[in-house]
Amino acid sequence: MGGTFDPIHHGHLVVASEVQARFELDEVVFVPTGRPWQKDDQTISAAEDRYLMTVIATASNPRFSVSRVDIDRSGPTFTVDTLKDLQRALPDADLFFITGADALEQILSWRRVEELFALAHFVGVTRPGYQLVDHHLPAGSVTLIEVPAMAISSTDCRTRVAGGMPVWYLVPDGVVQYISKRSLYQG
Ligand code: ATP
Ligand code: MG
Repeated sequence: MGGTFDPIHHGHLVVASEVQARFELDEVVFVPTGRPWQKDDQTISAAEDRYLMTVIATASNPRFSVSRVDIDRSGPTFTVDTLKDLQRALPDADLFFITGADALEQILSWRRVEELFALAHFVGVTRPGYQLVDHHLPAGSVTLIEVPAMAISSTDCRTRVAGGMPVWYLVPDGVVQYISKRSLYQG
């Protein structure tokens, strides 16, 4: 599951847990992006902070892990490179790429889209406020599933912190404390 995770929140965690259970996955690997090319115009937090928050949020789940492949690669992050690196690290694994309805909409604009479907099976999940549709994606390459609706976004969490509003219960406790310790999102 790729993401900016700036910060990771309970929406991400519910999606991962649900897809893990439904597809009986051995492991869900969270992959914080390096520099997301779709977010070139935005300021995003340091990769190391996003990586550590993802580790903090996932540490207690034996089926969750975090990969540094994207943050250790220089240049903008393209999912095709992520999947190739993961395939190299886990040559016997069947890869699934988990994405929310909003990100799935953008898949067709991703670079080397044909290659992507050869590397992994895509799982598109519902997200409040977005339509889950598989716009002309190759047959059999994507499975759409409904997950418990969590109307949480990282953007909203950042706005809340900047405005002095709480993010307790939107993100894991350790992430609330990390945000405060590092004075993230102070605007
Ligand atoms: P931002 O507001 O900064 O874009 P975000 O909340 O969308 O943050 P991302 O890191 O961009 O989080 O998302 C990573 C992946 O998780 C994407 O595939 C996204 O669609 C999915 N996702 C994020 N939040 C939810 C949610 N509440 N429900 C379902 N899917 C989600
Ligand atoms: Mg997003």
